[in-house]
Amino acid sequence: MEKLSIQDASRRLNISQRDVREYIRKGELKAERDPDSEHGRWLVIMPEEGWQDHFKAYLDELDASITRWWWVNEHKTGSVHYLERTGIENVEPDYLCGLSSENLWPSAGHSRNDRCLECLMRATEQGLPLFEEDLTD
Ligand SMILES: [Zn+2]
Repeated sequence: MEKLSIQDASRRLNISQRDVREYIRKGELKAERDPDSEHGRWLVIMPEEGWQDHFKAYLDELDASITRWWWVNEHKTGSVHYLERTGIENVEPDYLCGLSSENLWPSAGHSRNDRCLECLMRATEQGLPLFEEDLTD
């Protein structure tokens, strides 16, 4: 098993160091602390060949096509909330307003008033896509 520093892994996988850290945080890349390092730096356990293309294509597709607004209960009451991240890491979804839910339900056809204000504010602040096309009004 090949282990590389974050810097070397970033070069090898052709993604930014920031992305490498982000993927480690999300569990998409495995990493461990270097036992020989004083500062406890991370070593990235290099994934199999093809990982990068496969995974990046997947994320791009997901980001582009899937709304981040979701109902947090099956009765579709309360507000729709904005998922902080898309991707396969969302086993327990976290929303921008800080809410978590164990599951999520599609929000297609919700109305503007259904949107959680806190989520909306933060999404706007961060310049995230708002998926206006999902709205019925
Ligand atoms: Zn919210």
